[in-house]
Amino acid sequence: MAFIDENLLDEIKSSNDIVDIVSEYVTLKRTGTSYKGLCPFHKEKTPSFSVSSDKQIFHCFGCGVGGDVIRFVQQVENIDFMEAVEMLAERAKITLPEKSDNMDLERVHFKECLFQINLETAKYFRSNLASENAKAAREYMQKRKLDTNTVNRFGLGFAFGNNNDLFQHLKSLGFTPSDMVAAGVVIQNENSYVDRFRQRLMFPIFDVKDRVIAFGGRVLDDSLPKYMNSPETPIYSKSKTVYALNFARKAKVNQLLMVEGYMDVISLHKAGIPQAVASLGTALTESQGRLMRKYAPEIILGYDADGAGQAAILRGLDILAAIGCNVKVMKISGAKDPDEFVNKYGPDKLLHCMEHAMTLVEFKLENLKKTANLTTTDGKISFLNSSAAILAKIDNSIERELYSNKIASDVGIGVEAIYSEINKRIFGNSNIKVAKNVREKITKAEKEAESREVPEHVYHAEKLLIFLLCQNEKKNYEMIKKYISTENFRVNLYRKYAEKLYEHFEQNQKQNVIDLFTESEDINVITGIMQEDFNFGNNNEKALSDAVNVIRKFDLESEKAEILKEIKNAANNEEIEGLERRLSEVILKLHSLTAERRK
Ligand SMILES: [Zn+2]
Repeated sequence: MAFIDENLLDEIKSSNDIVDIVSEYVTLKRTGTSYKGLCPFHKEKTPSFSVSSDKQIFHCFGCGVGGDVIRFVQQVENIDFMEAVEMLAERAKITLPEKSDNMDLERVHFKECLFQINLETAKYFRSNLASENAKAAREYMQKRKLDTNTVNRFGLGFAFGNNNDLFQHLKSLGFTPSDMVAAGVVIQNENSYVDRFRQRLMFPIFDVKDRVIAFGGRVLDDSLPKYMNSPETPIYSKSKTVYALNFARKAKVNQLLMVEGYMDVISLHKAGIPQAVASLGTALTESQGRLMRKYAPEIILGYDADGAGQAAILRGLDILAAIGCNVKVMKISGAKDPDEFVNKYGPDKLLHCMEHAMTLVEFKLENLKKTANLTTTDGKISFLNSSAAILAKIDNSIERELYSNKIASDVGIGVEAIYSEINKRIFGNSNIKVAKNVREKITKAEKEAESREVPEHVYHAEKLLIFLLCQNEKKNYEMIKKYISTENFRVNLYRKYAEKLYEHFEQNQKQNVIDLFTESEDINVITGIMQEDFNFGNNNEKALSDAVNVIRKFDLESEKAEILKEIKNAANNEEIEGLERRLSEVILKLHSLTAERRK
């Protein structure tokens, strides 16, 4: 949190109403005291994402994420804490005193320097292209039919085969060796520096703000590795970067077409398909998905048609679907990849294929059919089971019906058999005790309560106390503390929260309770409790004393059971006498508790 003090952070938060900020990304509808909408972090058709204006928090009852306005911006924009704070400060026209903290100023300067080095490197590689030594690179580009316009636009260049001429060049511009190493363009050997990329055609990698953050280099002969990338640096993370997204973004496309490599992307852009982007030699990550979702509502995967890529596609699809992207898979025939396809048949044909891309379910079912053996009964049963598992995940019943009918006629199974398998999967696992109408997942605390045999009403009472403590009212705390100490909490997770909250009230701190927690997981759980509807109207006091009594009664009853057990196993009369004295005390307490309640 380097240079932002707590007061300033509070000012930034209070100047950015969470309902306003979330509304920029999600359509919210008011329901009672909170707002509801479709969660931007997972795919859903009925809203379980809720935002509270008075508590200034959000929480999704579907996927469980939650937090304050800063965490929302961090996650939806896929940026770090400081970047989110800066963004919100700017929005509220609050000036951050960034020049006052040396540490942070250094960080900013350092990153700025790395951007500069990458930019100068790109310029240098580009100027090399004209040289006699770059003949092989020019021939390759010609072979791939890249015109000057495209070469300039994508900033292609050439790295010479010498040992360290880039190093010498950057040195002449005044950069230090250690910064060049940090930027990833130079490697330090024992006591010398050498260029990372040699004798390669160079592709600068841009971030969405058009800054050069890294490079990919391709050899021009048969040497290996064929492709080489910059390492991870403070300004470049492979798993958070999507190649050519800066261009696609400017073209304001509605879909993104993921293809395999730089060359495919470049030749598709050249052919008039600005939707083309690529991940950089990795399996797709969630961060990449979130980034893409920001710029286009639909993502089409257009990997090579051969079987090798299928597993990668399936994984990528699931990752993208899980974070709420609308994903499709494009099938092409008559060419080995989209690049060859567009060269052979032209961009219109490719756009047509994009329009007819398969949905996630279609693709999965088709894949399943390819591997199934539908000539045997066993094969049919296993196909039926696997396809029911896919269909059970569809929320929309009409869609489910359409697919079921199609499978039935394709495979020659009665449609009822498919429905019955699907229903088993949807309704079969209802052994979760706690009612959870909108929630898809059982929470960690619920799981714990179940496994440790904490009865449901006690679990609820503890949760309610956490809810009341989170209202950040000292009087709630005073009343709870009178009867319940943190050790009385049976659910470990809630005891941990109670400890933090008790400590917070003891120290008389006024800060927001969410700020007491630093782990994402805890913040998610806490916001979930804060946003839960406990249905006690405005009668806080009654709810509080009911919950306190539930816990006290359970404690006393547990103690009573324990004593009775001990009496059974007692060795002598003396011991029994002592136990019985304790027992009558407990029973008295239980009576007075019941009497208290009748008052
Ligand atoms: Zn969600």
